[in-house]
Amino acid sequence: MRSAVGAAVRRTPHQPSEFEQDGQREQRARRILQVAVAATAPRHDWTREEIAAIYYRPLMELAYQAAKVHRRFHDPSEVQLCTLMNIKTGGCSEDCSYCAQSTRYQDGTGLEAKRVESVESVLAAARVAKEKGSTRFCMGAAWRDMRGRKNSLRNIKAMVTGVRALDMEVCVTLGMIDDEQAKELKEAGLTAYNHNVDTSREFYPSVISTRTYDERLKTLGHVRDAGINSFPVNALVPIKGTPLGDRTPIEFTSMLRTIAAARILMPATIIRIAAGRKTMAEEQQALCFMAGANAIFTGEKMLTTECNGWDEDAAMFGRWGLEPMKSFQKAAQPEQGLAGDVAGLA
Ligand code: SF4
Repeated sequence: MRSAVGAAVRRTPHQPSEFEQDGQREQRARRILQVAVAATAPRHDWTREEIAAIYYRPLMELAYQAAKVHRRFHDPSEVQLCTLMNIKTGGCSEDCSYCAQSTRYQDGTGLEAKRVESVESVLAAARVAKEKGSTRFCMGAAWRDMRGRKNSLRNIKAMVTGVRALDMEVCVTLGMIDDEQAKELKEAGLTAYNHNVDTSREFYPSVISTRTYDERLKTLGHVRDAGINSFPVNALVPIKGTPLGDRTPIEFTSMLRTIAAARILMPATIIRIAAGRKTMAEEQQALCFMAGANAIFTGEKMLTTECNGWDEDAAMFGRWGLEPMKSFQKAAQPEQGLAGDVAGLA
């Protein structure tokens, strides 16, 4: 057996031992977190090393520090209520392994493709959402991109303008868009464009083969330049009939760690718990709010999956002393940073 003394003899005098290296790494990680938590303004120059150092801090410490940052930049009792409507269901040409809306998995999921909703039906749904207390209305369309969809873009801009006229914030998720389309949507009144990174660069080809991670980043660049990006955190909701339908959902601690790290890295941004909230216990949701999440999707459905309902969320808010955030309250602090997720929806 190799002894510690024997190992020490073979080192040159100035070479730190593994033990010393671990100690130095730990000290550096603590220092990175300390500096990040002391911030009084958002930063946009994080390195991968800094992000990893923060993300892997002991979870209780990470959540506590994130809660401190959250209180400096936001009212911790306020949570934004968003309602998501599917304005074009199914029939999508993409092959995202987690999604029921791809035509490739239609036989297994049994989901029927529908035509695009009319402007009137979208505005009627937005009015219901507003009556129920939502202050942001989001619209999702199941397609790859907006190329050659001039009529659709015109209708969507009418929906955006109509929802804004109800004094609600408006978000859309329409797949990949170019810089012109991002600007047009912004000019029509769009508050935020949701475009998830789906998964990491390394995993991308095993989750989606019909587009690349870089194409995803390109759209994120366009929406960031237009000042309309958003930060949802999604956990995979395994849907029967899709290739990921049998996967075990990720552990709650990964969700909490992601939210806490995001709060420290993007202190002024609204962080939305998106897919995966339906299966969280109320206490788990409360931990997420404590660690920096301050928006949720609420209503009848989240695209093709179940969503926590308005009444259920109102009762939860009452028990925990939370209040719905008013619309446009955060308008002076544009959502920015890395739009991303654990694994999610288009
Ligand atoms: S996630 Fe979006 S792009 Fe992918 S299959 Fe579903 S609807 Fe299409």
